[in-house]
Amino acid sequence: MGWFPEYFWFSVIIALLLSSDSSNYKSWALESHLGSETELRVREMLESAREAEFFDWLKSVRRRIHEYPELAFEEHKTSQLIRDELDSLGVEYTWPVAKTGVVATIGSGDPPLFSLRADMDALPIQESGHWEHKSKVNGKMHACGHDAHTTMLLGAARLLQNSRNNLKGTVKLVFQPGEEGHAGAYHVLEEGALEGVEGIFGLHVLPAMFVGTIGSRPGPVMAGAGRFLAVVQGVGGHAAAPHKTRDPIIAVSMAIVALQQIVSRETDPLEARVVSVGFIEGGQAENVIPERVKFGGTFRFLTSEGFSYLQQRIKEIIGTQAAVYHCTAKVDFMEEKRRPYGPTFNDPSMYKHAKRIGEILLGDNRVQLVPMSMGAEDFSFYGQKMPAAFFFLGIRNETADSIKELHTPYFAIDEAALPIGAALHAAVATAYLDSHAQTQ
Ligand SMILES: [Zn+2]
Ligand SMILES: [Zn+2]
Repeated sequence: MGWFPEYFWFSVIIALLLSSDSSNYKSWALESHLGSETELRVREMLESAREAEFFDWLKSVRRRIHEYPELAFEEHKTSQLIRDELDSLGVEYTWPVAKTGVVATIGSGDPPLFSLRADMDALPIQESGHWEHKSKVNGKMHACGHDAHTTMLLGAARLLQNSRNNLKGTVKLVFQPGEEGHAGAYHVLEEGALEGVEGIFGLHVLPAMFVGTIGSRPGPVMAGAGRFLAVVQGVGGHAAAPHKTRDPIIAVSMAIVALQQIVSRETDPLEARVVSVGFIEGGQAENVIPERVKFGGTFRFLTSEGFSYLQQRIKEIIGTQAAVYHCTAKVDFMEEKRRPYGPTFNDPSMYKHAKRIGEILLGDNRVQLVPMSMGAEDFSFYGQKMPAAFFFLGIRNETADSIKELHTPYFAIDEAALPIGAALHAAVATAYLDSHAQTQ
């Protein structure tokens, strides 16, 4: 996952200034539809996860994963660590799921079935920060916090396993490979690992939000994303005799400028879409017109119409602009290799449920409405199959230096967020089973 707007955390600060700690826990008891027993158990989960021994264990798990980051579908060591921890907790699991993934099962084995998801993969980034547990693998780093996500889901496994006799249904905990551009979620679903599951919850750390806060929004929360790769073929030649060539550099230049009109001239200004070209490759010498030029980029959208419209127009515009300059073009959307992600959509009632649990755990003013982001997440694949909620977990702390953006070499987290994430996962699942078992 990537990118949130800069104005984001200003709005977070304003929200914190306007609210006060003293209002924590005031109103939940009256408003909530959850039973008081459920609420008590939910709060006990956070207390347990914050106990010294539990917290130390969470930190040690996260640090071990952080030291050995692995890229998409290569998460063998991480997968082994997850299975070892589940074994020592006495939790059953299925493995391998989507190559390296693990799906653990806790509870009665009967419906309702609820799922929690964490991603496991790292990024091809060299870690630049200096701390005791920095990455020991050159050129790889957990710079998107997936080490923390996996740790928090193991934390949830421990909390749920401790209260398994009181679970009114079954929780499936998905340790998912290949989130960073490889659609691991799609493969988990393809393998049928979540058959019969009624709802799912996922968390992502966010350096824009202060530790101790969480946030999300109902409806679309993150954009869908596709990629394209274009090759424009011309006729190369001496740069001093351009009339004897078919110049692909001019054709590509015009195509890139023309692509910008899709958003600025063809899209409703109130609908969010993005078309960005990220690279161009072509030519080697100042005095030679090359045979061909390659370029590529990403496009973002919030609806399936947006997706097909952008795809169609990107293809048309590149092809037409190439033809204007007597060149030809091939546009590849790489849908098999790099499957496009749909927009991440929060089911309104699942959002409300997770928000309520967050308010019980942290206090009303610590659960915030976040702005949408044009970043993308493969959690969206789950949302296409079942009611889903995706929340952000604050990790920002100036003292812990956890203020750097996701996907950067200095990215760091405040580990005080780990017990919160573990308890939130476990509590959202427990309370879901409680309320759905009651109505069944
Ligand atoms: Zn990411
Ligand atoms: Zn991520």
